[in-house]
Amino acid sequence: MDSLAAVFRKVGAPVSIERITLDPPGPTEVLVRIAAVGLCRTDYHVMRGERRVAMQPMVLGHEAAAVVEQVGGAVTGISPGDHVVLTFIPGCGKCHWCRRGLHHLCAEGARITQGPQLDGTYRRRDRDGAAVGAFCMIGAFAERAVVDQASVVVIGKDIPFDLASLVACGVPAGVGAARQRARVQPGHSVLVVGCGGDGMNVVQGARLCGAARIIAADIVPAKLDWAREFGATHGVNAQGDALIRAVHGLTDGIGVDHAFVCIDPPSTLLPAFRATARGGNVVVTALTPDTVTEIKIPPLELFVTQKAIMGAVYGFASPRLQIPELLALYRTGELKLRELITRTYGLDEINRGYADLEAGRNLRGVVVFGD
Ligand SMILES: [Zn+2]
Ligand SMILES: [Zn+2]
Repeated sequence: MDSLAAVFRKVGAPVSIERITLDPPGPTEVLVRIAAVGLCRTDYHVMRGERRVAMQPMVLGHEAAAVVEQVGGAVTGISPGDHVVLTFIPGCGKCHWCRRGLHHLCAEGARITQGPQLDGTYRRRDRDGAAVGAFCMIGAFAERAVVDQASVVVIGKDIPFDLASLVACGVPAGVGAARQRARVQPGHSVLVVGCGGDGMNVVQGARLCGAARIIAADIVPAKLDWAREFGATHGVNAQGDALIRAVHGLTDGIGVDHAFVCIDPPSTLLPAFRATARGGNVVVTALTPDTVTEIKIPPLELFVTQKAIMGAVYGFASPRLQIPELLALYRTGELKLRELITRTYGLDEINRGYADLEAGRNLRGVVVFGD
């Protein structure tokens, strides 16, 4: 079968829109028609060489909602016609973590930048016959994809696809960081550094947790305005020492209970750490380029202030549990999804979409496909 796809061939170059060949699904795999896929910053990090992947060519795209068209003989619980969200970390079901229900920590997650399917083989070829990888074992910047059932969560048919795509990555990453990683409690204070796709969802996650003070920090003024619509009580256009001073000014000199580093950890982690109250949490939700191998935090300061620095991928909870729960919160009106989408694009407009992201024009751009 043929599929139009956006193929990553060279670091620093635009992705190229090509027809690729897609092989039929293996026994544990499904063929899906992609309906919507978000323009997450992670794919952009790959295009720019800041997050290295093991091979090119590779189809990027990992924040997708889709319709199942065909299932392999050993697939259980997924049928043609099902609406699904694809997960960027598979839940293999067999490893140490999956057996505990911690699919966000699945051992197979270490291979999502490699290119092959979960079983180690390829389903995509370019017109020269060369194997084409699939980022996150998904490769959703394409009309169709073949993915393992470990990467599939079936959802209700009432959710519009563009909104469903958002709960594949940005929404659980942000909301979960507040709810499951930091465990923000009613009345707590929160700082969110970087109010893009992840950060805005930390803001709404903190609101869902009942945080009393939610300080949004960004250097793009429009994002501070958006953050207020998602529940931020204060907006701070500052970075570095000025950010620390501003946060202390808003918290009686104490600092926040929880700080979230949602952009550029090399430059934002130390200010976020110092804007956090003694005994508080600092949660990193953003990628750091592979070339940065250390961030300096004075160990004595860490010890005496008794703060915790923690990472959160996928909001530190299984996407299998989180995705249905987040969609339930959308149905009751507690979780904003529509408001996250700034613009939609066609598949051939992906490079323009990322230019808009880079320019700070988008909270989330989403590629939508016609029928
Ligand atoms: Zn993502
Ligand atoms: Zn696993």
